[in-house]
Amino acid sequence: MPRTKKLPAAPPSFHVFGDLPLDVGLGIFSLCSPFDLVQLAATSKSNRTLIQAHAYLWESAHDNIARGECPRLPTRPVIETSGNYSQEAYVLWVFGGGPCSHCSKPTTSLPLDFLFRFRACSTPCSRILMSRQHVHYCSPAEFKALPYSIGLPHIAREEPSTEIYVYTSLKFVTNAKHEATAAKQFNNRGYRPPASSTFKRRSQAELDAEYLRRDRSRPAIEKNASELNSWRDTYNAQHAIVAAANKDFIARMAKEERINAARLGRTPTLKQLKHAFDRDLEPLTLSVWNHNRSAIVDELGPKKVVCQHCGNAYHEAGFITHLFDCQDGKQRSLFEQIKKKVLCEQCPDSRRLYTKEGLEDHRVAQHGLVRPVVTWKHCPQCPDRKRVFKSREGRMKHDNDVHNSGPPARGPSRAGK
Ligand SMILES: [Zn+2]
Ligand SMILES: [Zn+2]
Ligand SMILES: [Zn+2]
Ligand SMILES: [Zn+2]
Repeated sequence: MPRTKKLPAAPPSFHVFGDLPLDVGLGIFSLCSPFDLVQLAATSKSNRTLIQAHAYLWESAHDNIARGECPRLPTRPVIETSGNYSQEAYVLWVFGGGPCSHCSKPTTSLPLDFLFRFRACSTPCSRILMSRQHVHYCSPAEFKALPYSIGLPHIAREEPSTEIYVYTSLKFVTNAKHEATAAKQFNNRGYRPPASSTFKRRSQAELDAEYLRRDRSRPAIEKNASELNSWRDTYNAQHAIVAAANKDFIARMAKEERINAARLGRTPTLKQLKHAFDRDLEPLTLSVWNHNRSAIVDELGPKKVVCQHCGNAYHEAGFITHLFDCQDGKQRSLFEQIKKKVLCEQCPDSRRLYTKEGLEDHRVAQHGLVRPVVTWKHCPQCPDRKRVFKSREGRMKHDNDVHNSGPPARGPSRAGK
């Protein structure tokens, strides 16, 4: 039996935005997406009461998701069986994400199959989910013969072999089996099912009554699941279009801000905004950007500057200091290079660097340079002429000392060999 809840009276004014008149506030709420409305209902008791008191807000929210090719969100089934089909639970189930039904990895994607209540994190998991590992199938007669199958949502399909098969979630079947066993045990021995069990503890009579309610609710649940399954495909197609447009929008803003687009997209605020706008099939706009820009830019942290000389990135504050070091280093290395090696001026196309001696050899070999004869460097009187004098003074001292000629350089002259 549906539980009747006493609703507290809705407040006369709109508390969220201060003393905003109620009709203005409701007007704003009527522009919300289904997920927005769930979040608003969760923010405060007065919002929740207000939304509950104005059921049409859910209707408008369902309409607001209709964009492009995507039609409005199918209305939830109103059913008498237990199971969470409240407006909030319904919207959260569709848009709120959850663990993958196969590997439990969290995913934000819409359910893979609304009838079997499968959610998949990836294509491999979706394949496994739609296989025997998670789907129960048998002939209609076999299905009917299961004592606990009453009211279990299922789908009958005609196979190419012209045989009709009944498909349902394997989890539904095993769960119903445990539930039936637990009801028997409860009747016989008052046994309590463990706290971890996924079903409510019922006596056999209670479970029998629940079976009847389930069987009456089943068509509405199956119809809604089939509507959601086909709605999901158009939603996903539109979602892809909007997500691509929003990605482009972020790229444009990144270009204007001179920031890497991927880096901009990774800021928590923009990431969250994009997820919400994509989910609600809404394009990001300049006014949304302007409203959130400072928060987003703050999250980027200090701006990085790339040094043109060395190509490394520095935070703005450290860049000036670096620039001095970098320039200094650059000049020093340039100076050292000039000091050590030079280009040949006569070979304008060549980038080859020569030492001073190397250039002279090169010019002698390639450009017909006649080596300037430095008369004092070698002594003609010494037979092997191996000694190279470093200065004129050295040569004069040598002439004086060894050959006893020329002016005395320093000290008394000595007779040589
Ligand atoms: Zn998975
Ligand atoms: Zn640098
Ligand atoms: Zn040359
Ligand atoms: Zn000599």
